[in-house]
Amino acid sequence: MIQLATRVTQVTPSLTLAITAKAKEMKAKGIDVCSFSSGEPDFDTPQHIKEGAISALDQGKTKYGPVAGESGLREAIAQKLNQDNHLNYSADNIIVTNGGKHSLFNLMLALIEKGDEVIIPAPYWLSYPEMVKLAQGTPVIVNTTAETDYKITPEQLRQAITSKTKLFVLNSPSNPTGMVYNREEIKALAQVIVDHDLWVVSDEIYEKILYNGTEHISIGSLGEEIFKRTIISNGFAKSYSMTGWRLGYLAGPGELIKATSTIQSHSTSNVCTFAQYGAIAALESPESPQCLQKMLDAFTQRRQVILERIKAIPKLSCPTPMGAFYVFIDISQTGLNSLEFCDGLLNKQQVAAIPGKAFGADNCIRLSYATDLASIEKGMDRIEKFVNTL
Ligand code: PLP
Repeated sequence: MIQLATRVTQVTPSLTLAITAKAKEMKAKGIDVCSFSSGEPDFDTPQHIKEGAISALDQGKTKYGPVAGESGLREAIAQKLNQDNHLNYSADNIIVTNGGKHSLFNLMLALIEKGDEVIIPAPYWLSYPEMVKLAQGTPVIVNTTAETDYKITPEQLRQAITSKTKLFVLNSPSNPTGMVYNREEIKALAQVIVDHDLWVVSDEIYEKILYNGTEHISIGSLGEEIFKRTIISNGFAKSYSMTGWRLGYLAGPGELIKATSTIQSHSTSNVCTFAQYGAIAALESPESPQCLQKMLDAFTQRRQVILERIKAIPKLSCPTPMGAFYVFIDISQTGLNSLEFCDGLLNKQQVAAIPGKAFGADNCIRLSYATDLASIEKGMDRIEKFVNTL
């Protein structure tokens, strides 16, 4: 047996990827699987973004570039953060990374060390606790419930803080719950963070996937004191349907960004040079908002259908998600835990869903509606049939 480093044994392999792989395997065998497992928009990257990368390739942008990213992209990101999020950053406050996941990983390595506690509200995106552990920190999980729309309250945050707390992870809109914190809620959390002199990382990767006029509030925009303690993690995957491009960014105090750049210089170096020109097109082209709107129109319709179907199944319930493309369904009335539920659903009805256990909530499952309407209808028929047998 290979004597692996302890850090490997302390992290859990991704359950999301395991279920997705099993569903794919079944599909390859010719089985008609309905998949609600995907965490990516089912739209192609808009053509004008592809053109940005293609023309960069044609211009020979095929060499190593600056570790922190092409200057044009860092400037465009800084401008976007100023305009969209009211955050006063310049290019020196930005590092371009290989996706939002890489941003967060870089940040944990730069900020967290043995003994540091990182507060993560559950349900959480499954990589947060694992990244903290890889950085030798201690994830402190604070459970939230459907009664508070799966949002952590300022009291809960305050109670979880100890002398070892260094960082709070905020994710709005949230994966897996689709919940969006409003201005007052963010303001109250910001006050606790400032009072206890903590850092906050705000994962805003779903900031543009919002419904019914919901507003995205970037925590750092709420005042100078909270701004100083904020790091923004964002990327191009969800808003521009660029999951495979692997493009993300971190924004924060220059000293911290410089530290992540040092780490990146010894791990991945710069992000694929010509891909960064696709990202510039995504941020700067007037066509991007129209493409986003098209995607949002489709998500809006699917969300309505899936919510109506869930409502019609007596043993299932979920709060109405206001962002992202997920519904987080409470299955406790079925008497099954999330693994039993998802296993049964896949084996008996060939429907792939993600067990809530992966997100720290074993009484729930996550369905993604980043799939076409016909598949949603068919999949929901099967879920209804499955639940009726329980
Ligand atoms: N943060 C959240 C909440 C996510 O759901 C994801 C992807 O699913 C990411 C970050 C990372 O995105 P990427 O690395 O694809 O940019």
